[in-house]
Amino acid sequence: MLEASHPPLPSNDTSETSCKLKNIAIIGGGPAGAATALSLLKAGKYNVHVFDANQGAKIKIGESIPPAASAILKRLGQSKILSDADHLDCTGSVSVWGDKTPGHNDFWLVPVGKGFHLDRYRFDQQMKTAAETLGARWFEGWQLRSVARRNTGFKLQFHLVNGSQRQLHFDFVVDASGQAASFARKLGVVRNVFDEVLCLCAIFSLPKNSNMTNRSLVEAVDNGWWYAARLPGERVIISLTSDVEIIKAKGLKDPQKWNDELLKSQFIKKQLPSKVLQQLPELQVKVARSSILSGVMGEDWLAVGDAACSYDPLTSAGITKALMHGELAGVAIDRAWQSKHRRTIVDYQTKVFEQFNQYVSLRNQLYRAETRFHKQPFWKNRLFLQG
Ligand SMILES: Cc1cc2nc3c(=O)[nH]c(=O)nc-3n(C[C@H](O)[C@H](O)[C@H](O)COP(=O)(O)OP(=O)(O)OC[C@H]3O[C@@H](n4cnc5c(N)ncnc54)[C@H](O)[C@@H]3O)c2cc1C
Repeated sequence: MLEASHPPLPSNDTSETSCKLKNIAIIGGGPAGAATALSLLKAGKYNVHVFDANQGAKIKIGESIPPAASAILKRLGQSKILSDADHLDCTGSVSVWGDKTPGHNDFWLVPVGKGFHLDRYRFDQQMKTAAETLGARWFEGWQLRSVARRNTGFKLQFHLVNGSQRQLHFDFVVDASGQAASFARKLGVVRNVFDEVLCLCAIFSLPKNSNMTNRSLVEAVDNGWWYAARLPGERVIISLTSDVEIIKAKGLKDPQKWNDELLKSQFIKKQLPSKVLQQLPELQVKVARSSILSGVMGEDWLAVGDAACSYDPLTSAGITKALMHGELAGVAIDRAWQSKHRRTIVDYQTKVFEQFNQYVSLRNQLYRAETRFHKQPFWKNRLFLQG
């Protein structure tokens, strides 16, 4: 029976004196949720509960991290995660963007650490284990369904994979539920979406002893842009980013049409083994929004990672942002709890907004740099959105 194997849950007693340690719920067990748990448990003694709706999905998209992510993991005491043989070193990127001559971005010039192509499932599991080792209680297959405010904190209702429901009270809630922002949206917080692209991704096996580069590869094309990265376990991910209307009009969800489009690329296709180019993909469709909540904190709650704000995958910054938010949020909650004043949580929100503005500038700069296709709808849409 599922429930028998769960770690202890907080009491349903909602009186403030019922617990000596503050009960904190983290909704979502991705990089942002795990990093928040680690940061909180490093900062002080808390009862940290992580609830994740997901149970056992082994394929996760989003895998490339720059050296800046290694530096955050080091500060969270988790450097060893990246020395795991399951993750691949990534020495930088090569992009055909704005010019047909490839441009290089070398990570070895960055002094803070190495870049990686993660085995994303393994990475998320390692983060979970690290948080559990520090004392976090982790609940898989628990989906947040409803939220009710109490004098202090919130009463949360969960739907479990076995079909049962549970209601629990927490003093503080961290929304780490990804782009869904499941907790904040239930409180009525608005999500501002200023751009949305669709990614058609596929993972292929590489032939034995393939000499495919371990750099991330990017190529701008008339209908959007291609991304390819070698993955651990002799695999490669290839993704086409475009607009939903273009994908519909050109039928690009059809594996054959996606493959025809890949073969029209000038650079990416030459970096891929012919065995991969000859296969039809099993496509996964992922929505990627440039978006931010109108507020990423409130009385007894805050949001981290994609729940707080999400970036275009062109920047490869989503995991790094998730780790950074988690680190900052843990410290902010601890200081607010110690000082009985929520100024540090307001400061956290200011930081998230500032970083989002920096992201918007970077995104605009990147899309403006590609002028060869400026008459094509995908590129016109990106420039139009810059106002
Ligand atoms: C196509 C694509 C490619 C990308 N490539 C990269 C890349 O190369 N590098 C990079 O850094 N970033 C990349 N990203 C972005 C990156 O994947 C995200 O920014 C990152 O996963 C955010 O982490 P998170 O912990 O905030 O959210 P998530 O990883 O989305 O985790 C959220 C968790 O919350 C859980 N959840 C949701 N709703 C509920 C609920 N109601 N109750 C309980 N649990 C819930 C989900 O099950 C999930 O496990 C990419 C994104 C896309 C779409």
